Amino acid sequence: SIKRNYFQHVAVFNDSVRGKMLEEQELLGIAEQALSDGEFKLYFQPKCNMNNGKIAGAEVLVRWWHPKKGMIMPGVFIPLFEKNGFIEKLDTHIWEKTVQWLKTRIASGENVVPISVNISRTDITNMDVYLVLTGLVEKYAVNPQLLELEITESAYIDKSEEIINLSAKLMDYGFIVLIDDFGSGYSSLNILKDIKANILKLDMRFLETENKKGKDIIQAVVYMGRWLNMIIITEGVEKQEQVDFLRKIGCTYAQGFFYHRPMEQSAFEELIGNPKSIDYAINNYLSDDN
Ligand code: C2E
Ligand code: MG
Ligand code: MG
Ligand code: MG
Repeated sequence: SIKRNYFQHVAVFNDSVRGKMLEEQELLGIAEQALSDGEFKLYFQPKCNMNNGKIAGAEVLVRWWHPKKGMIMPGVFIPLFEKNGFIEKLDTHIWEKTVQWLKTRIASGENVVPISVNISRTDITNMDVYLVLTGLVEKYAVNPQLLELEITESAYIDKSEEIINLSAKLMDYGFIVLIDDFGSGYSSLNILKDIKANILKLDMRFLETENKKGKDIIQAVVYMGRWLNMIIITEGVEKQEQVDFLRKIGCTYAQGFFYHRPMEQSAFEELIGNPKSIDYAINNYLSDDN
């Protein structure tokens, strides 16, 4: 009967929800141990100059290597950790590993490029991000200009006041501040008006347009960012056509599978080991007073 089918449906729905919750509970229960066991690994995805394909920097992206489940992507566990508060601990760990990495490279005289890390919206409310980050670069004596801080546009919706203050303080200290996922939310223009940042990273969904109007808007945004003295980088670049279009409208930098996927630390080190692979033009903007 209709009624029976209805209840069967409900039962199935409940089972899958319960299953998901069980898995979430399981991941949350083992996160602490996993962190001390070194299961959270830093992956590096290069940011490239589209004029020559050379590497101008990289973003650190976390991967959870679970001994039984294999690799777990951040899309699965970051939202969980943002809900239960573990993200502050994980991000502090990732930031410290990143600063340590920079320190080691510099100390051994090897090639180095600026590296970015992500800051979660909940980090901003639940801990003193400024204190943690300045503490780390002081502990390891690393130039804050080598550390780019990615703050996602969506955090701006509920945390605008905090983010305006935080980004200004971080920039004054000497860090590079980057607005991540630009164009993905509803507050894009307000962000540009209110926030001081060095780099604007266009969201990959922004690129998904075939029509003329959409392309005109992308072009206008690139102009606007440059007008405001920002470096523009586009993420999610996968195709030659996208590279051609972005170069034509004056966007120089890209991060995307077209150039490189996120890779293990050793692969990244090998890649930048060759000085010819590095885009030293990046130093121009790092020393610019913008
Ligand atoms: P995000 O910061 O916007 O990072 C860019 C995401 O786009 C990464 O996904 C990257 O692998 C992916 N991507 C880059 N190029 C391409 C491309 O050409 N095509 C496609 N389809 N994807 C591309 P990932 O590594 O899965 O990370 C997802 C999100 O998780 C990140 O988005 C960031 O918000 C968050 N996340 C990752 N690592 C961390 C971390 O250490 N801390 C915090 N708080 N968040 C992190
Ligand atoms: Mg990011
Ligand atoms: Mg992004
Ligand atoms: Mg994103």
